[in-house]
Amino acid sequence: MKPRSALVTPFQVYLFVVVAFSALIAGISARDLLFGAARDNTWLVVGLSLVIGFTTARLVELRPNIKISTRAAPQYAAIVLLSPAGAIIATAAGVIVGYFFHLMRGRHNRIDLLFNTAQGVLSTWVATSIYRLVLSAAGTNSGEPVALIFAAASLYMANAFLIAVAVTLSRQNTGLFATFLHLIRNDPLVYTALLVTGLLAILMVREQQFWVVPLLIVPLAMTEHVVVKQRKENERDRKIAVMEEVDTLRGEFVAAVTHDLRTPLMTIKGFGELLEDREDELMPDERTAVRAINTSAERLGELVETLLQLSELDAGMVVLETRPSDISNLVRRVFEHLRYTADNKGIGLVMEASGPPPPVVLDPIRFEQVITNIVSNAIKFSPAESKVVVRTGVLDETLTVQISDSGPGIAPEALPHIFERFYRASQVEAGRRQTGGLGLAIAKSIVELHGGTIWAESVVRQGSTFTIHVPVCRTNSSDDGPVVAQFSSPRSLPNQS
Ligand code: ADP
Repeated sequence: MKPRSALVTPFQVYLFVVVAFSALIAGISARDLLFGAARDNTWLVVGLSLVIGFTTARLVELRPNIKISTRAAPQYAAIVLLSPAGAIIATAAGVIVGYFFHLMRGRHNRIDLLFNTAQGVLSTWVATSIYRLVLSAAGTNSGEPVALIFAAASLYMANAFLIAVAVTLSRQNTGLFATFLHLIRNDPLVYTALLVTGLLAILMVREQQFWVVPLLIVPLAMTEHVVVKQRKENERDRKIAVMEEVDTLRGEFVAAVTHDLRTPLMTIKGFGELLEDREDELMPDERTAVRAINTSAERLGELVETLLQLSELDAGMVVLETRPSDISNLVRRVFEHLRYTADNKGIGLVMEASGPPPPVVLDPIRFEQVITNIVSNAIKFSPAESKVVVRTGVLDETLTVQISDSGPGIAPEALPHIFERFYRASQVEAGRRQTGGLGLAIAKSIVELHGGTIWAESVVRQGSTFTIHVPVCRTNSSDDGPVVAQFSSPRSLPNQS
């Protein structure tokens, strides 16, 4: 339980003022009503009080879990049909009856009862005063429609204002104006529907037009439509917000964990290498164990670095360092790097360029990684004694790089998913080394950071082709020139042409 504060809170002061003022207004109204200053049909006052009480106590259940209060409709009818004193007393009595019902059910507390009764009295007082003011200013007949609109609007505004002040004072973190606007914008259509219901009720009582009864279904259907749609949209927005939050938290968690893994991993690697240097002093089974430790530490290290890189890309922390680069040199460097693995399987690495490619502006280090990830996959999946071909070309400010292999291919149902993180098409990989399913996700992020696209085409048992398109600016300078731009968001390549 919250400890009781000795000080009076601003909300308590507000509640006191609102309740005291409404009690004064209700007292004067009761006097007018009892001593004949206000001449209302007693049955109408009692009837409207009961309807207000009923609508306050029983929310209308539009659909399972979607309930709305329809109190505004009879409150509005009372404002128009009764004298100010009659309307105020009918509202006060109705709200008290309704909230007593809630209180008995344990749904609301006494503060709710006090605040809602005061709110009912004050909003009725405001609306009934404005209704009569407009009516007397404009003349009873011609001014009636305008007065009805003013009364409805002021009832809506007064209710929203009284609630906004309460919310602002009790939460203290939202501005009054912002809260008021939020409440006003929240359900204007529903409110309009309720007021239309009120108007139909007025017509029914005043003009004895009972044919309007079936029409009451129209505003209710309208309300249902609006409320259900709104709830669905809110629910969808809430789900998206939760998913985004979970995603951010997961990203932060992965980044923190992988970062923390680096230090113990370095210790394992350091001691592993030390033991490997002293291999001569070890027994044969100890040597095997040391090699296994070092290989595992190496793999774990790669995985940790990959995860860190991905979380940096996700967090938008990667800043591209673009410079004029020679794409042929870049592919050659990738080939040199992977030559040993390819030679071990007897796989030929072939580069085909459509004419001498001009230097293009991109981040050569990041782009080299993209090509490395795809070519190493191609080598990994290709059968022995086959070829991996990399084709490059620049056409219309677009750099195209295509990497083809004659491996087992990718099943059509797996193809849309291979760029997702941690995805592995297991059926083509059975028996192969698992490397985390992150290589293509990283490649995609880097290509997109360059403002480009990447996709794969594949025929099962014939091979796969990965194509990269990147918008580039040609330049006259050659590889490893000065850094010409740094950018971290897609499609912001500087125009060099
Ligand atoms: P991994 O580290 O598992 O290779 P990637 O993100 O690089 O992760 O690739 C995801 C999956 O895409 C792979 O596990 C594999 O199933 C499929 N894949 C990628 N490249 C090829 C290829 N050249 N041939 C066949 N399948 C491939």
